[in-house]
Amino acid sequence: MAILFEDDSSERILSPSKGFEDVNIDNALRPRQLGDYLGQEKVKSLLSVYIDAARLRGEPLDHCLLYGPPGLGKTTLAGIIAAEMGVQIRVTSGPAIEKGKDLATLLSKLGENDILFIDEIHRLNPAVEEVLYPAMEDYAFDIIMGKGMGAESLRIQLPRFTLIGATTRAGLLTSPLRDRFGVLLRLEMYSPQELAKIVTRSAGILQIRIEPAGALEIARRSRGTPRIANRLLRRVRDFAQVKASGVITRDVADAALSALEIDSLGLDNIDRLMLESIIKNYAGGPVGLETLAATVGEDASTIEDVYEPYLMQLGFLARTPRGRCATPGAYRHLGLRYEGREDLQTTLT
Ligand code: ADP
Repeated sequence: MAILFEDDSSERILSPSKGFEDVNIDNALRPRQLGDYLGQEKVKSLLSVYIDAARLRGEPLDHCLLYGPPGLGKTTLAGIIAAEMGVQIRVTSGPAIEKGKDLATLLSKLGENDILFIDEIHRLNPAVEEVLYPAMEDYAFDIIMGKGMGAESLRIQLPRFTLIGATTRAGLLTSPLRDRFGVLLRLEMYSPQELAKIVTRSAGILQIRIEPAGALEIARRSRGTPRIANRLLRRVRDFAQVKASGVITRDVADAALSALEIDSLGLDNIDRLMLESIIKNYAGGPVGLETLAATVGEDASTIEDVYEPYLMQLGFLARTPRGRCATPGAYRHLGLRYEGREDLQTTLT
């Protein structure tokens, strides 16, 4: 059984995607400056060099592509880049831009060096992408005036701007679009220690009393994802207020998260169902992605973007050319005896 939000029956509590109740809280908890953006050290140190260099030259930052699973801080980072550059940011998403004309309108509202952030940029429609290419390359777009033989193309010059695109996987972009980004930055899942700092910071903003061990317990069960950590913090707070003294201790966090059926490593029923079905129905794998998706009732892209990254990070799932395999670590976590091949035992643990 999946764990459901009361207000949105399709929502899974461990979903890294933005849910109904996350929208306002995401904004309230969003760090506004690089110093408050915890973790992602490599990305931050690269970015601060690029930002300093662009500012020294008085030029816009190169177009940046941020990629990584949902909830890791791509939108947040785009806002921080704008703040550090001292420019305006306009936020939109691939599916929201229906026609080339809509994109042209957005572009024409930008000021010099401003940032246009396009979330889910892999979902842009091809006609819109066509408008984006000259905009990215020459800061211009072309308007076709008239029809048929008499049609004329008129080039409109734009201010120099930065496009920041976000996507769950860089491979989902068409190559002409990907090639037009000067900077490609991959966001990594966060360590429990980094997430504990994020939880502690959020608890401060939301005025929730929390002990360090309580923050670490929430962090360990948040699948390496700040959005999930912030969501679990709020759920555990409810529990602490109703069933305990209001302070989130390790025991309170453990009891609350266990009641939500989130296990010690942050797996929920769907993760366990997925691993168990690979083990029990397919002798540990390999199982094709589509088959697996049908077994757990999710679509293949959700499995790839949402479920698999964390299971692979834990070393519980391996992607092989012939399909997905459960590793000996997954058997151990589920309390099942591993009877598979010894070579998997040595290569995958
Ligand atoms: P994405 O765009 O990758 O889906 P967001 O930028 O919307 O993710 O981040 C989700 C939430 O997680 C934000 O509202 C913010 O509160 C929190 N968050 C993300 N990254 C960080 C970070 N590095 N430090 C602190 N909080 C973060």
